[in-house]
Amino acid sequence: MQVHKGQTLDEVVRLLDQYKDRGKLIAGGTDLIIAMRNKKINIDALIDISTIAELQGVRDVGEYISIGAATTFTQLMESPLLEENLYGLKKASRQVGSPQIRNKGTIGGNIANGSPAADSVPPLLCLDSQLILMSTRGERSISLKDYYEKDMKIEEDEIIREIQFKKPKFNQVLTFSKLGLRKALAISRLSIAILLELDGDKVKTIRVASGSLGRYPLREYRVEEFLIGKEIREEVIDEAILVLKEAMDERLKGRPTLPYKRRAVEWAFKDAIEEGVKRLKGVEAW
Ligand SMILES: Cc1cc2nc3c(=O)[nH]c(=O)nc-3n(C[C@H](O)[C@H](O)[C@H](O)COP(=O)(O)OP(=O)(O)OC[C@H]3O[C@@H](n4cnc5c(N)ncnc54)[C@H](O)[C@@H]3O)c2cc1C
Repeated sequence: MQVHKGQTLDEVVRLLDQYKDRGKLIAGGTDLIIAMRNKKINIDALIDISTIAELQGVRDVGEYISIGAATTFTQLMESPLLEENLYGLKKASRQVGSPQIRNKGTIGGNIANGSPAADSVPPLLCLDSQLILMSTRGERSISLKDYYEKDMKIEEDEIIREIQFKKPKFNQVLTFSKLGLRKALAISRLSIAILLELDGDKVKTIRVASGSLGRYPLREYRVEEFLIGKEIREEVIDEAILVLKEAMDERLKGRPTLPYKRRAVEWAFKDAIEEGVKRLKGVEAW
């Protein structure tokens, strides 16, 4: 097998074009190496993107934040741009695996690997993120939501160059809650991200996304619709959880994990909402 250490993005897209389905990008290798060891992948070349500077870092681009696809979780945790109202994305990064995994694993690899438990995805879905893809044919962008919901593929000759989202308003906050199997090295058993804006005690804007509650991470539109305009009280949140459970029941029908997830989601949803209210108002939610 050939291993190419990419020096520039242009070189990487040329290599992708050359190898097509016989080549594969490798960033941190935390998913790919395991798949290769398990003989799930048979290729001629690996194209290493882990040291390409233009694929790394979190940037403030006016109204938008841009995250290079080869940015590691440790780099995300250390970014001053992910403080305050973007704190949910930092929290999700902090809870990935172990320090070793966070030092190597990247946000682009997390998305491209396509796991329903990918921790960075629910917060990015709440932010209506776009994936910016590149190939020798040029650049295009697809929404992260469509990537999952409409099963839009990243073509074999394409690389995710960056992830972009509009900065939330100063009075909106992004939160994240995850229930793993063990404290360390826990691949999410279940996660909830929420973007929240309040008008007094009422919900003005809400976006809810879940991890591991379906075939892929997804927006929980029914819960959003239920909560919009409602006052945040414990009873209302309990009702919202019932709405979420109904949606889960349909998606996860017959799965042995469903009874566990029905219980666990109560905690995760409440935790994320409570944290959001506390961050916005400085007081406990109820
Ligand atoms: C012990 C352990 C614990 C873990 N814990 C967690 C956890 O808590 N939460 C979690 O979400 N994940 C977890 N993971 C999974 C993994 O670490 C993450 O999914 C990580 O983000 C993958 O990134 P990577 O850079 O290592 O990807 P790689 O393994 O390098 O690549 C994964 C896939 O993405 C493709 N790819 C990589 N970069 C790009 C790009 N820029 N454009 C297009 N395709 C690309 C590769 O070709 C490959 O198919 C864990 C893994 C292990 C081994």
